[in-house]
This record gives sequence, C-alpha cells and structure tokens, in this order.
Amino acid sequence: KPPILELRNVGKTYQVKQGLFGKARPLTAVNDVSLSLSRGEVLGLVGESGCGKSTLAKILLGLEAPTTGQVLVDGQEIGDQDRLSLARRIQPIFQDPYSSLNPRKSIFDIVSLPLRVHGIGDRTQWEKQVREILDIVGLPARVMNTYPSQMSGGQRQRVAIARALIMKPEIVICDEPTSALDVSVQSQILNLLGELRREFGLTYLFISHDLAVVEHLASRVAVMYLGRIVEEADVAGLFDHARHPYTQALLQSVLTPEPGLGVPDTQLGMAYPNPIDPPSGCRFHPRCPLATDHCKSHAPRPIRTEQGLVECHLYDPESQMYKNEAA
Ligand code: SF4
Ligand code: MG
Repeated sequence: KPPILELRNVGKTYQVKQGLFGKARPLTAVNDVSLSLSRGEVLGLVGESGCGKSTLAKILLGLEAPTTGQVLVDGQEIGDQDRLSLARRIQPIFQDPYSSLNPRKSIFDIVSLPLRVHGIGDRTQWEKQVREILDIVGLPARVMNTYPSQMSGGQRQRVAIARALIMKPEIVICDEPTSALDVSVQSQILNLLGELRREFGLTYLFISHDLAVVEHLASRVAVMYLGRIVEEADVAGLFDHARHPYTQALLQSVLTPEPGLGVPDTQLGMAYPNPIDPPSGCRFHPRCPLATDHCKSHAPRPIRTEQGLVECHLYDPESQMYKNEAA
C-alpha cells in the first residue's frame, strides 16, 4: 500500500528582495525534503521559526506550488489542476484562531464555509452538519449564531477544528494548533485532536516548534533545520536517544525560541541563521557544539537507517553511534 501522503525531494525557493532597491535573491525555504505518512499516523514536524515548516504545510495544502519535487496522495502525483479536489481530502488547522477566523462572520458561516465553497448540500443540510460537527468538537449548537469575539481561545480553536473536519478530510495539517493557547487549554485541544484521530481514522501532520507538544500526539518525528530534515525517528527513539546534535539541543532546551515568546536561546548560543544566507557546509555548524573544520565546508548527506534518518558527518550508520562517542 502506498503512503497516504508522500513528499519526494520537495523544494521551494522564493525570490526575495532585501530593502527597497535590493536585488532579488533566492531564499530556499524547503530544500530537498522527502517524507511519507501512512494512514492513521501522526507525524510530528519540529523546528524553530523560519525552518520552512509552514512553507511545507502550504505546499501540502496546495497554497504554494513546490519549485522542485513531487507531492503524492495515495501514490498519485498531485498536479496544479488537482489542488481543488485535494483540498477536500487535506484540511488545515492553523496556529492562531484569533486571526484565522473572520471576525465579521458568525460561527455558522465560518464552519459551513468549506461546504459552501465546494457547493456541497443546501442550507438545511449545512445547518444539520454544522450542528453535528460542533457537537463532535465539544461546542453547543447555540454558538452557531455567535461571533469569534464572543468565544474563548480554546472555543475558537474548536471552531477551527470543526471547520477543518466538516469536509470529512483524511489528512489534517495542524500548524502550531495550540501555540496561541494557555497551557491548560492546550492539553484539552491536544486530547481532542487525539480522540478525533482515533474516531475518524485521520492522518495528521503535526507541526510545532515545541517538542513537548509533539511528543503528546505523534508516533514519529521529523526535525527540520533551515529547510532540511536533519533527523527522523519514532517518538520513543527520538526522546530516548536523539542522534543529531540539533535534536539534542532542542531536547535540552525543550522550549525553543519563537519570536514573541521571549524564551532565551540558552543551548544553541546564537540566533537562528537568516535562511537567505545559510551557513556553508553543514548549515548547523555555527551553532553545533560538535562541529569540525570538515563540517564548515562539506554538507552532510542524509543517512537512512532502520530508525529513520539522520544527516550529520559524525553519525556512523554501521555502529549507529556518533563517531566521537565512546564505544
Ligand atoms: Fe554538527 Fe558537523 Fe554534524 Fe553538522 S555535520 S550537525 S556541524 S557535527
Ligand atoms: Mg510558522
């Protein structure tokens, strides 16, 4: 059986102007990424702000076309003309329900919008379906006639989940779905997402800067750094024995810095590099405590193992150890 969702060597390069009179320069947000998800699985995608994880989400949602590579759903390559039908099978839940819900629309209008856009059913059916889906996400039917401003952050995120699920998608791309919420509300929403996955057999790509949040839901984790997947492993393996120095640093700091959150970056010493000027060689070398001269000039290639993937010169696939580790 082919994976339900697969990325093959996907890349995305933007032309970015720096300053008013600056020349356009290429910014590679996603650099040769290959990932696959099997049906019913939760793959966590972790990285700091600017690593390309949201660009990857947009490509999967058909909001951006990849510059290189292929996106396959059930083994079928998705072309530009397929993106609308794809939208019925892949739905997003975004980070900030404050900004992703139109404040001038009622909850009924917001949740029924995907049905109306795709011309599915009539007003009576929309009302019935909105009522059902609100119940499923734990909201009373009476909220239909209210507006986002009348709801709490957690309720708004439930509305965003209802809007995503009303299309009965198979795959849900969750991009930081709990980052804007209080910790206590976060766990309620994570639990809800877990229940919905089991009940409806959903497949999630769960994007977050926070490994602790990903651990809660994901069975496998891919770690992204400056556009590349630097490590991929099942969740237990990653938390027990992270192999890539970047993953190890993320685990030590657990909360990684995200602009606006004000969390100091204590482990990695310096700020996240500007993706328009990525470091030479291994892109992690300026922040890597294990970097050698070789790392500065030579980019490591991804090594696939039974455990997943790791992209680092020091990793020896034979012994499954770091070359500097005592045997
Ligand atoms: Fe660090 Fe070198 Fe490995 Fe890059 S290749 S993560 S710089 S040790
Ligand atoms: Mg983002």
